[in-house]
Amino acid sequence: MPSLIGIGNPSNGTSGRLIGDDMSSGAFCIVCGDPPPLTSDRLCETCLRARVSLSTMPERIQQDRCSKCGFFEIRGRWTDMDGDDLADLRIRENLLVEDRSKNVDVSFAVEEIDERTCRLHVDVVGMVENHDFSDTHSVLLQTSNAVCPTCTRKAGSYFEAVMQLRSAGRRLKDDELESLRSTLDEMLSSMEPDPMFFISEEGKVTGGWDLKLGSKAMARRWARDLVRKFGGTVKETSTVIGANDGIEVSRLTLSYRKPAYGIGDAINFRGSLWLVESWQKEGPILRKMKMFERAGFSWRDMESSSVACSYSEQHVVGILNRDSSAVEVMDPVDFRVVTVALPYDDDGNSEDIRIGFIEDEWLAIPVVGKGGSN
Ligand SMILES: [Zn+2]
Ligand SMILES: [Zn+2]
Repeated sequence: MPSLIGIGNPSNGTSGRLIGDDMSSGAFCIVCGDPPPLTSDRLCETCLRARVSLSTMPERIQQDRCSKCGFFEIRGRWTDMDGDDLADLRIRENLLVEDRSKNVDVSFAVEEIDERTCRLHVDVVGMVENHDFSDTHSVLLQTSNAVCPTCTRKAGSYFEAVMQLRSAGRRLKDDELESLRSTLDEMLSSMEPDPMFFISEEGKVTGGWDLKLGSKAMARRWARDLVRKFGGTVKETSTVIGANDGIEVSRLTLSYRKPAYGIGDAINFRGSLWLVESWQKEGPILRKMKMFERAGFSWRDMESSSVACSYSEQHVVGILNRDSSAVEVMDPVDFRVVTVALPYDDDGNSEDIRIGFIEDEWLAIPVVGKGGSN
């Protein structure tokens, strides 16, 4: 056994040298016959470079831009993209890199020629079969005018749903309309862009605001947001407007009714003062102002309620003096010192207090009424 090892070692070394000799004497470039070093497919470096390029790219790239909204067509979708991001994407789409390459690095510069044309200067470096390669491409990126499907629909006044913003039993005030309407922009900016989520038309109507929307999904989603934020109800009606290839085409009308009161408002209800605390599907949750009591009521129950002092009319004032049952504060309207009875949830050491002018006097508002969304 030891002798085998003894024999094995030198013979291994010998055979290694022998194979090496074989290669140098026997292998050659299959194109020009040059000796090694050779690539894995038996080419010398010169013949490899003559046959292989690191990358290829077309001389011209054509892209479409919507002439109305300015979005670019990218893989079948229309997207708001520009400048280097867009150039980067077009290069990725059009640059073909040799399969065997490694450590490839692409850099580029954009040279603007005019409104619709720019030249991309692209530098590519990398390795093929352990040889350094580099390429440069000068590519014309040309932009054609088009109209995206969304703008086509908008231009044709297309809409699938009507959204009506109203209030229960009164007109919506301008600032209320503004805060309701702003939640649509919030929704659109917080979600993945959807080409059907567009506003075809909108405007003021008696008592509220109407919008024609690109899709039913958009109307329903927004209605859910409105109810979550401002309470209220949504009435849904569907109208058949025709048929397309035998399929009925309908239009949805959503009528959103904002309650007359908001979170944090003090309201008169069933002979007591309450604060609106939060919304449920069926109606608001109220808290009594005088003592701890919390209960949910239906929208119908609430029809007999009235706002005594809205959250925006309440004031937070500093406490000048306090005793066990009342505090002295400065009247925020005429700056005289007035006495206000402590709220039931007073903690005995807070430095300010929320008050509202209700039925001819300043009343303390318990802390639970905090955090309105008006
Ligand atoms: Zn060769
Ligand atoms: Zn467009």
